[in-house]
Amino acid sequence: MSLTRRGFLASAGSGLLVAAAPAFAKKANAAEIYTLPSLDYSHSALEPVIGAETMELHHGKHAAGYARNLNKLIPGTSLEGQSLEDIIKTAAADRGTYQTVLNNAGQHWNHTEFWKMLVPGGTGVPGSLQKKIESDFGSFEEFREQLVNVSSKQFGSGWGWLAIDNSGKLVVLSTPNGENPLVHDMVPLLGIDVWEHAYYVDYRNRRKEYVAAVVDSIVNWEYVNARLANA
Ligand code: FE
Repeated sequence: MSLTRRGFLASAGSGLLVAAAPAFAKKANAAEIYTLPSLDYSHSALEPVIGAETMELHHGKHAAGYARNLNKLIPGTSLEGQSLEDIIKTAAADRGTYQTVLNNAGQHWNHTEFWKMLVPGGTGVPGSLQKKIESDFGSFEEFREQLVNVSSKQFGSGWGWLAIDNSGKLVVLSTPNGENPLVHDMVPLLGIDVWEHAYYVDYRNRRKEYVAAVVDSIVNWEYVNARLANA
């Protein structure tokens, strides 16, 4: 059997064929470690803030790709068996070895949480979160302004965040590419994806308009509050 033929049969992927080719069986099992989470809402449910076409591409293609890449990168390395959070921290501490792992592990974590940080129509801001924001930023309006500005000004691809630092204070920051506040010893509470794939279909170059619309209309503040309570 030629390699090409074996490759075709492996990608065809029936259990019988995998069983007959152990080398591929290992890959087939490994591919199930990291999976694309299903959404709690339809692709069109975040409209008009985020359109269905964006969601189909963003969730169905981009986010799926990070999980798929991770399944190729982690098995068989010393990172296998670690939590995703620990993989991100380990990779960030040794970028010379693990930059590609950091990119994909960060993006898998970021997107898995991003879908839960959003909800159609948004929620109200729970009182405990509101108080903490007012205490650490002065007012909700000041926090909102910082989040929109810092997120939209991230140079190139990346994320804007509300996080809690290791002194327990809420902070707003942005991170490049697939990085997130875990890399800086902080706990991410809310992330705004500012990669072009997150907004370009709907907003073209108007990134700040996209960020403001997300923050004002579709954030699941109850989920953010739950993350704060568990931080
Ligand atoms: Fe994204």
